[in-house]
This record gives sequence, structure tokens and C-alpha cells, in this order.
Amino acid sequence: MSANPYPLGLRLDGRQVVVVGGGAVATRRVPALLDAGADVLLVAPELTPALQARVDAGRLRWVPRRFVPEDLDGAWLVQVAIDDPAAAAAVSAVADERRIFCVRADDRAAATAWTPAVTRQGPVTVAVLGGGDPRRAMTVRDAIRDLLAARKGPLLTPGVEEGALPNSTGGRVALVGSGPGDPELITVKGWRLLTEADVVVADRLVPGLLLDELRPDVELVDASKIPYGPSRAQEEINQILVDRALAGAAVVRLKGGDPYVFGRGGEELLACAAAGVPVTVVPGVTSSIAAPAAAGIPVTHRGVAHEFTVVSGHVAPDSPASLVRWDALAGLRGTLVILMGLKNLAAIAETLIAHGRSPQTPAAVVQEATTGTQRVLRSTLEAVAADVHTAEVRPPAVVVVGDVVGALDA
Ligand code: SAH
Repeated sequence: MSANPYPLGLRLDGRQVVVVGGGAVATRRVPALLDAGADVLLVAPELTPALQARVDAGRLRWVPRRFVPEDLDGAWLVQVAIDDPAAAAAVSAVADERRIFCVRADDRAAATAWTPAVTRQGPVTVAVLGGGDPRRAMTVRDAIRDLLAARKGPLLTPGVEEGALPNSTGGRVALVGSGPGDPELITVKGWRLLTEADVVVADRLVPGLLLDELRPDVELVDASKIPYGPSRAQEEINQILVDRALAGAAVVRLKGGDPYVFGRGGEELLACAAAGVPVTVVPGVTSSIAAPAAAGIPVTHRGVAHEFTVVSGHVAPDSPASLVRWDALAGLRGTLVILMGLKNLAAIAETLIAHGRSPQTPAAVVQEATTGTQRVLRSTLEAVAADVHTAEVRPPAVVVVGDVVGALDA
């Protein structure tokens, strides 16, 4: 028997694949088959809850009984995911007879096809076969995955080698949330786009270590250093995004937390769309949830808070420019999370108390959450502004008001 398998990428869209067995192995194999668009027929007397959920959702068909040869009618591929060697061999025999490739969980040597260890990065799939040793395949796969995640070259950017870019100029913009501060809190997708970028336009609040890892040839635009006032600076940023993308660059607009939580992501999306630049949004872990969490505060907790409200405190409550109904917020029982609220904290606390929130409501302030310099201050609504002043708490900081502040205390 030749030791060398012949690698193939099966295009299963709309093609019937039969999975025999409804246990742990089938649970692990079915998602990738569905992802490839396969028409999955599951043959098994019983299913795991995860498989049952997919059946209930109409993602696959289930025949609730043991295998019969007719199950392979119309099949392109069969996956045997049962332990019983005799039953597995029976399925295998029928598959052989009909010249249908058969993957076997119970006996690799007897199988006519092997499932490789796989890692996926956007459109690229890397599949590793370990010469019949799945552990070796996984070890190599893990090493490749790390290599791709840490790579310093435009390995996976389409068409770079050939100098040809896909549509028109190929330029595009991604509005990517970087997460609250810890560089590991960016999403996998955000990280991939960042490593593929030609141009990165970054805010002050994005984790510096993410930028540290950019390739030397990447153009880094520091959006916080753009002169002019805030609205003029925003126009300037929009212009940079559009210009670079129209010139063919893959542009990442990297923003602290989530792009749409007080991040002006919407304005940038509209500017790109108006200029005909393809734009995608990659959500991020927002500080409004992550900062409390990093201080041991859940924004909701059973029996304590059934809502949390995120509000910007950058405009004083009595200002005509304020869009916030602080009087109404004072009437809520749940969690109030205030961003950009340090400067106006005294006025905010007073307003909430004046409209009925208890002065004794627990409050916490989390500065530079999820970073090495994180600080947490615990107080009450009536004392928090003075305590922030005394402790010299500085932005960026999130203020949390509500009984959740003590909910996890022993
Ligand atoms: N889009 C961001 C928020 C931008 S507004 C997000 O989703 O997190 C900027 C405010 O966010 C800061 O003034 C502060 O209130 C809050 N903030 C952002 N990062 C923070 C961090 N690491 N720790 C505490 N607060 C943070």
C-alpha cells in the first residue's frame, strides 16, 4: 500500500455527504461539512444535543435509525463516526462497492480518505495530513497557524505576488475595533485584517503593542496627531481613508473598543460608501463592558440587574447640547456605564441623585482597563466624584453605577 495520500479540496456545495453516527466525532465533523455547503444526511439512532440543534434549525437531515446500504444513494462522500468496528466496516464495504470515498474515525488504515488537520485564515485553508498520524498533523498545523498569525509579510493578501489586484484597484477599508487595551482582546478577524493592511490609521486608545507588530513597510497614520479641531480632523481622517483606498491600498481604520460605540465609525463608513470604497466593519470588545469586567464587575447579574445602559458623559447634563435624559436614567434600577465621564462626573452624580437615584448606590471607576496600568476605585454615587479627584484618576476611565458593583464580592 502506498503511504502517500493524494490531497484534494472537495467542493461539496449542494452535494450529499452521509455521516454515520451521532456522537462526539460527528459533532466535530459536521460543522465543517455544513460550512462547505454539503447536503448532510445524518444516520444515527441518537444525536448529541449540538447535532440535534442543527437538525432542529433545518441545517441537516437526520434519519433516526441504524445504517442501511440505501443511505448511500446519491452520496459523494461518507464519514463513518461510530466506534463499533463491525458496523463501521459494513458501511465501509458498501461505500467501496459504490466507489464512494469513506472517512473512518475507528480505523484510519481501513479508510479510503483522511480528514486533515485544518487551519483557516480568511479565504485560505491550510490542510495537513500527518502520514496517518493525526497527532503529528495537529502539531504541524498548530505551528503553521502560529506562523500565519505572527507572519511579517503579506503572505495571504490576494494577488500581491502577481502584482495584480482583484477588482478595479482592490482598495478597501476595514473599520476594526481593537478592543479596550489588552492587545490580545482584538478579534481574530481584526487581527488578520491588520496583518494584511498596507495602511493603518490608528487612534490614541488602540493598544500600542498591536502597532508594534506591523510590518515596516506599512504606512501608519496616527489619527490622534492630526492638527485642526475635532470635526475638521474627522474630515481629514475620512479623506485619508478614501484617498488611500482609491489608490489601491488595503486600509485598516483601527479604533479603540468597538468602532460604533462613541467611535465615529458610522461617519467613516458613510464617507467611504459615498466615495464608492468597499468598507467592512469588524466589531470590537467595547470598554463599556470589558472595563467593568476587568474590575470584577458583571454589567448584568441574575437577581441584581436586568439592564445596562451605556452613556457618554462628555457633555455636561445641564448643557443645551446634551442629548441625554439624565432625569430618566436616574429612574432606572439597573447598571449605568458612563464613558468619557470624568470631567463632568460631579454634575452627573448630582443630577442622578436629584432625580431619585440613591446616593448610596455603589459606583466604581476603572482607569486604563485591561492594561498593565489598570486602576480600580470603588465608591458610592454621592462620593465618587470627590474620590476620583483625590485619587487623581485620569482618562481613559469608565464609571459604573449600580448594585452590580458589589455583586461578586464575597
Ligand atoms: N469605542 C470605544 C469608546 C470610545 S470613547 C469603546 O467601545 O470602548 C472613549 C472612552 O472609552 C474613554 O473616555 C473611556 O471612557 C472609555 N475607554 C476606552 N478604553 C478604555 C480603557 N481601557 N479603560 C477605561 N476606559 C476606557
